[in-house]
Amino acid sequence: MNKSSALNIPSDVSEIKVQNFINGQWCPPTTNKYMSSWNPATGQKSYAIPDSSSADVDNAVRAAKSAFPVWSSTLPEERAAILNRIADLIDQYGDKLAVIESQDQGKTVFSARTADMPLCSGYFRQFARCAVEGFEETKSQMNAPCTPVAVTQVENSVLQSTTQHVPSGVAALITPWNFPMLMVCEKLAPCIAVGNTCVVKPTEITSATPYLLTLILQAAGLPNGVANFVFGTGVNAGEPLVKHKDVRLVSFTGGCVTGAKIGSMAGGLLKRVSLELGGKNPSVVFNDCNLEHAVATHIRAAFQNQGEICLCASRQYVQRDIYDKFVKMFREMTTKEVRVGNPGDSKTYYGPMVSQQHMEKVLTYIRLAQQEGAKVEFLVNPSDPAVKNVANDGRLTISGMEGGYYIAPTLITGIKQNSRVMQEEIFGPVVCILPFDTEEDAVMLANDTQYGLGSSVFTQDKARLDRVTKQLNSGSVWGNSWMNWDDNMPFGGLGCSGTSREHGPWSLEFYTETKAIYSLVSR
Ligand code: NAD
Repeated sequence: MNKSSALNIPSDVSEIKVQNFINGQWCPPTTNKYMSSWNPATGQKSYAIPDSSSADVDNAVRAAKSAFPVWSSTLPEERAAILNRIADLIDQYGDKLAVIESQDQGKTVFSARTADMPLCSGYFRQFARCAVEGFEETKSQMNAPCTPVAVTQVENSVLQSTTQHVPSGVAALITPWNFPMLMVCEKLAPCIAVGNTCVVKPTEITSATPYLLTLILQAAGLPNGVANFVFGTGVNAGEPLVKHKDVRLVSFTGGCVTGAKIGSMAGGLLKRVSLELGGKNPSVVFNDCNLEHAVATHIRAAFQNQGEICLCASRQYVQRDIYDKFVKMFREMTTKEVRVGNPGDSKTYYGPMVSQQHMEKVLTYIRLAQQEGAKVEFLVNPSDPAVKNVANDGRLTISGMEGGYYIAPTLITGIKQNSRVMQEEIFGPVVCILPFDTEEDAVMLANDTQYGLGSSVFTQDKARLDRVTKQLNSGSVWGNSWMNWDDNMPFGGLGCSGTSREHGPWSLEFYTETKAIYSLVSR
């Protein structure tokens, strides 16, 4: 089946009218209220987003609940075929989706096209395979069944035990704004692959591509009610969804404070909950590293996607004897290569902050570092014709895009380890680089955080690499690299960075219930 010619993916985000997607129908919110969205590159009003309420959530959960019996008993091969069609359509429309994602979120079209979209389709293909391959169920057999509570011994029998993974029911999938479509696909693909149905509540800040994904789901032939989308705020739509009596599990990615709230709401109602939260990620650079590779990687780790990645290395610790050289190279290479501006321009390294509110938050941390007496540098190429002005706090004015939410690549040195700038997630193009002396100091400084999402170590000494990667407290640790992926590895955080693991078998485990089945059978 190929209904893709009917897909209407506009070339400008302002042409989109987001609607809820419930039981295979697009519908306005019952409130009939909409919120405005702004194009972050220009600061101009862009499109309208439903401000949905508990009534919309209830309709969506009802649709998901009625679709569950049929979808959960659909043959895995049929589910896989639909997931593969979704992947094909994402690939087919990837370029158009990337343009919309960029206009909505501020990331460059290039990164949306080459990173986000292929990862989105990749999740659907990966979990289509998993749907067919199923689980490796645990099997066991005991020859002489005896338990402390056994009342009847059956001669010549064996106890055969096996596990069975079954879909859980209706899932709530709640996602953030930094990877608007990717975060939805990361949850949706495993969730429906194993036979659950769901209600997705994408972020109210970047709803455009999650909405366009609903067009793809329908064109791919996903049965009505399997995936429902309710757009709106966390309070009006997210909370009723988490609390809904027919929602069995909640998968949430977002900030630490929201995560704690959702964790306690869902936990209090005995729902299974997965929390993927923020980070304040360290990287440790030893004096024996490959310096050029280390500097180039740290620039990427600081500024990729405007610094709006939960894994960005915003605390970089460099051994004292190479510290000055590292900082000098970092400064020069960033100034030369990290161009900020129009996210649609292929020469742009990063675009605007996602929203005015978020830009203000990032600027507040920059001003705080200045007030605390740290050295704050804005690494802007003085001969870049696109940059009209650099304000004292690092806000950039870009020619022709004066209303956009741009911030300069910001390097902070001479800041105290206990400053809020070093301890709180800023989630912008702001990096702090501090020196350390010994391996013990480096580990202590890196682990001095409430978070624990990702960390990196750079050294050519293999024994040290092995020691330090094992001592860093985070869900993912990279040696001589940053943010490389293997889809079969677990992803998640410690402490304020979350409570769960996703990807590969860990996602399958989360989205299913595991039963233990014991049968006494004759030998
Ligand atoms: P956020 O916590 O403000 O919002 C995330 C989602 O939760 C949104 O859809 C929002 O509407 C919803 N929400 C808010 N309050 C709610 C409530 N009371 N009940 C139910 N839903 C509610 O996060 P954000 O600002 O959108 O995203 C940025 C954060 O996400 C950063 O901290 C970043 O590090 C984190 N993040 C983590 C990962 C990861 O995999 N660990 C990935 C991407 C982003």
